[in-house]
Amino acid sequence: MSGQHSELGSTQSACIRCLAPMEPSDRYCRNCGMEAASEEAKTETYLAQILPDRVDALLEKRFKEQKIIEIETTELISEKAIKCLKIFGFFLGIPVALMISIISFVGVKTYRNIEDAAVRARLR
Ligand SMILES: [Zn+2]
Repeated sequence: MSGQHSELGSTQSACIRCLAPMEPSDRYCRNCGMEAASEEAKTETYLAQILPDRVDALLEKRFKEQKIIEIETTELISEKAIKCLKIFGFFLGIPVALMISIISFVGVKTYRNIEDAAVRARLR
């Protein structure tokens, strides 16, 4: 690998995109065509260095915020639900219980009637 061009400079670089070795005299990567030392290449190198950290930090921050909001919301909802249930149960508990028992009683009767009707219809 080392040879002809080594006297031009010891700065044997690698392509910032595909990491293929590049001669200092190469303007473009022989592997992927990435331009060496162009503005794009500099930006890409820079972004590749800072982006993972930035994205990680951002995601972590978002995740934390979201979790806090989630917990707060859940607490708020359960608190409200318990309050509502208490009030609801206090004022409507007995009538509702009565209504449910009446409805279930009537319902069972109605269901039996329907069943009887169905049996009768089948026997006809
Ligand atoms: Zn390349």
